[in-house]
Amino acid sequence: MSVLVIADHSNQSLVPATYNSVSAAQQLSDDIHLLVAGHHCQGAADEAANISGVNKVLLADHPVYDHLLAENVSALVMELADHYDIFIAPATTTGKNILPRVAALLDVEQISDVISIEADDTFKRPFYAGNAIATVTTSASKKVLTIRSTAFEAAGTSASAPIETLDSVHDQGLSAFIDETLAKADRPELSSARVVISGGRGLQNGENFTLLESLAAKLDAAIGASRAAVDAGFCPNDMQVGQTGKIVAPELYFAIGISGAIQHLAGMKDSKIIVAINKDEDAPIFQVADYGLVADLFEVLPELENKL
Ligand code: FAD
Repeated sequence: MSVLVIADHSNQSLVPATYNSVSAAQQLSDDIHLLVAGHHCQGAADEAANISGVNKVLLADHPVYDHLLAENVSALVMELADHYDIFIAPATTTGKNILPRVAALLDVEQISDVISIEADDTFKRPFYAGNAIATVTTSASKKVLTIRSTAFEAAGTSASAPIETLDSVHDQGLSAFIDETLAKADRPELSSARVVISGGRGLQNGENFTLLESLAAKLDAAIGASRAAVDAGFCPNDMQVGQTGKIVAPELYFAIGISGAIQHLAGMKDSKIIVAINKDEDAPIFQVADYGLVADLFEVLPELENKL
């Protein structure tokens, strides 16, 4: 069986989730090609060639593939489709944009958010906000999978795969890139940070989020938030962790003034170590916490910061 992994990248470098997708692909086959489609994306292709387990990198470098427009990239994937049995992309916004279109063009179902590979045709995926795990078996001739990055280790970097250039240009004329507004942050990216400190409604207002910032600076952590904190306007919505926010699985996760609703847990319960600070000893967050501190966050945060 041969696998085509569709890389998520910024042209210069790969999005870390691409490494986890290669790791998932390795459980299915040792014949793995990685497609880097973009514009001025040689940097991403060079990085891709180093990923352990990748036999070949396919590089499609043309303005029509810039910003990974799903319409154009999926047409490119269809051109290559006869050579592959399995199509994989990370379950990032890019992967979730491209792969359903690929699945539709192949006339097969997509299996989304795979967290475990049981066999060539059998996969596990979460549903009901992670409260239940479905085991899905497919008889599709070609399999289309998005991979939940937090469930697979990142692949290593010991390879030096050849890079093959693809010259074909698929401009479907269905979409065009207009503009993007990127949030500038001094802190590490939430989805891939080693430490995440999240605040909830217990922080009371946006100004109190600065208490988290000085702690985050000491731990080189990303800052996250519950939906209640986002909805109350304490912080922007790209900081939201949970079912309808980002899925994170850092080494260390702090939930501060967060009750632990299932929709929040859906986004962070795979974290390696969970620390909760909450003044309510019955808060559900304590059921998943490795370390729980029943305390007023306004008293203990400065103390914690001093100790650090
Ligand atoms: P609360 O539940 O109000 O909890 C605040 C906590 O702070 C309490 O436990 C309180 O004891 C504690 N506290 C207060 N003051 C202090 C203090 N001084 N010191 C210490 N502790 C204090 N939520 C998400 O987070 N992410 C999602 O992606 C998400 N998606 C959702 C999707 C759907 C379809 C729905 C219906 C809901 C979703 N929610 C999501 C909302 C979720 O149900 C909860 O409402 C939300 O997570 C609650 O946020 P919170 O814990 O900050 O607030």
